Amino acid sequence: MLGRTGERVSVIGMGTWGMGNSAGEKRKGELMALQKGIELGMGFIDTAESYGDGKSETLVGEAIRDVRDDVFLATKVAPDHFNYEDLLKSCEASLERLGVDYIDLYQLHWPSTRVRIQDTMRAMEELVSRGKVRYIGVSNFSVEQTVEAQESMSKSELVSNQVQYSITSREIETELLPFCEKDKITVIAYSPLDRGRIQLNKIPKELLARYEMTPTQVMLDWVTHPRPVIAIPKASRLDHVEENSMSVDVRLSDEDYQALSKLFQ
Ligand code: NAP
Repeated sequence: MLGRTGERVSVIGMGTWGMGNSAGEKRKGELMALQKGIELGMGFIDTAESYGDGKSETLVGEAIRDVRDDVFLATKVAPDHFNYEDLLKSCEASLERLGVDYIDLYQLHWPSTRVRIQDTMRAMEELVSRGKVRYIGVSNFSVEQTVEAQESMSKSELVSNQVQYSITSREIETELLPFCEKDKITVIAYSPLDRGRIQLNKIPKELLARYEMTPTQVMLDWVTHPRPVIAIPKASRLDHVEENSMSVDVRLSDEDYQALSKLFQ
């Protein structure tokens, strides 16, 4: 469930940072990976106007062209465009690159130190009332910044905060995660595989055998164990996409979740 909206989204989605920058076979492979992921139920796709200067959005647009209704499309606007007018223009440019009429989740990529949050949120609400955006989210916002963004809106609710979270990057557990849980704001975990740096050989073989899971699947299951978290691993390889799509078919028990948490502390 996304925030308090009642909207059902896939617990494991797909990130797209670094995708769409190449041409030829590499690009074709990325396109196929995204399309396979959608087919396998990972319909939540995350991109951003700043990824490859829009090239990631263009790739995503191509991948979803015939399957728009199977996709929950999330993109982000960069802080340089948080002025009211700039933000409206950025959204139009993203819609154009994505080849869609609306964005499901429009996120503020990072907090801005320059633009008043009230002006930014006014533009975000305007996009909702124009039907260009369905839901509003933030990314890399602290608890205070999230509260301020929420209080700057009169008609809409913030549904999500996209932040770094993996078994080896757990800063959000002290404050942000409990806050989001209490306020029913979905946490979108980015870099859930810590960009491939997790020491997967630390996971007990016995546990892998018991769940019939690969180490990566266990890591994605772990990161989405707390209630409000969904994860957006990036995978440009087809076999990785297939592996990730099966991560939450079986859920870790509370006991195993706790044991793994301790092991990586
Ligand atoms: P990540 O998802 O933690 O890791 C990506 C790496 O893991 C890639 O090298 C990928 O390889 C590999 N991988 C994926 N599935 C695998 C599998 N089953 N087995 C082995 N390796 C696997 O890192 P990330 O890209 O930083 O984060 C994910 C997404 O979060 C980004 O793409 C982006 O959409 C978002 N993000 C947002 C922010 C923000 O500020 N909001 C910041 C960073 C990231 P292949 O590509 O070769 O398959």
